[in-house]
Amino acid sequence: MTGRRTILLLMVAVSVCLLLVRLTAYKTRRLFVANATVPEGSLARVPAADPPFMSAVASAPPQNTDDAPPPEKTGGFDGKRAFTHVAKQVGFGPRPSGSQALVPLQEYLQTELKSYGCRVEVDSFTADTPAGRLPMKNIVATIPGEKSGVILLGTHYDTKRLENFVGADDGGSSTAVMLELARLLCKQHGKYAVWIAFFDGEEAVNWVWRDPDNRYGSRQMAARLATSGDLPKVKAFLLADIVGTKSLRFRRESNSTKSLTDLVWATAERLGYSSIFVNESTEVTDDHLSFLNRNVPSVDVIDLEIPYWHTTEDSLDKISAKSLAIVGHVFLESVKQLQTK
Ligand SMILES: [Zn+2]
Repeated sequence: MTGRRTILLLMVAVSVCLLLVRLTAYKTRRLFVANATVPEGSLARVPAADPPFMSAVASAPPQNTDDAPPPEKTGGFDGKRAFTHVAKQVGFGPRPSGSQALVPLQEYLQTELKSYGCRVEVDSFTADTPAGRLPMKNIVATIPGEKSGVILLGTHYDTKRLENFVGADDGGSSTAVMLELARLLCKQHGKYAVWIAFFDGEEAVNWVWRDPDNRYGSRQMAARLATSGDLPKVKAFLLADIVGTKSLRFRRESNSTKSLTDLVWATAERLGYSSIFVNESTEVTDDHLSFLNRNVPSVDVIDLEIPYWHTTEDSLDKISAKSLAIVGHVFLESVKQLQTK
């Protein structure tokens, strides 16, 4: 009896030892894969098949999972750099207007813009919303030009007021593109001034988008420019919103000024992006309306076909550095075109 028990115990001990050896070997292989020379961002593509390490892979920060073209191919625009700006914003959590989480983002935007040599103007204002009077801030990078006239670029940086909604694409992507554009454009001086506006309060505070509960920031800026007499100087307003998804597809927005839409879409076609900037149309209400209503030629570049719009699925894993680079390239070249007019 005692002898049989000893043998049994020995067998159990040997099995445990074998299991430990196998586990160690597996771990070493995983580490080897992780340390191998693989293109940046491709780690997330390594299949995480086995349970012991799955959680480690899943909790790693999401990486951009596609190959962004090198900046030389997109006019200097760095898609990977833009992707890090999306990750940074998402890291602040849900960022609706008036929330505490928006404060560090407002600081981040200003710090980044100043580090690129941009002049930064901040308009702090309050807006009466269904949630009461909320503090808001428009942040504008301004690049002087040689002649009178302004090319205005814009994004909104607030996120929809929804639980656990981090707006990687809706709020994050276009803001990241504008930051990267500012890094390039603040070093250049053209015929016309370029202003890059980061609007607060685009999203409706209520679930339903119903005027005037939306576009608080862009309405504020357009009204201020009208009062100061600077509004007629704005030759064109190019708005980006929801521009980061992997299977990007922009339809021509039908409220937008046709000649300006033509210019952007022709630029995209020339650069080889006609499968993304398609010749179908759609109608979207967005920040460009604040300027269109005051007769400023405006175009909205927006992909509202995303299945995760205004859901908690609008997360960093949906964002493509390549898509950000394509949008950045088209905006850069469109600004170049506008500078010749
Ligand atoms: Zn939205």
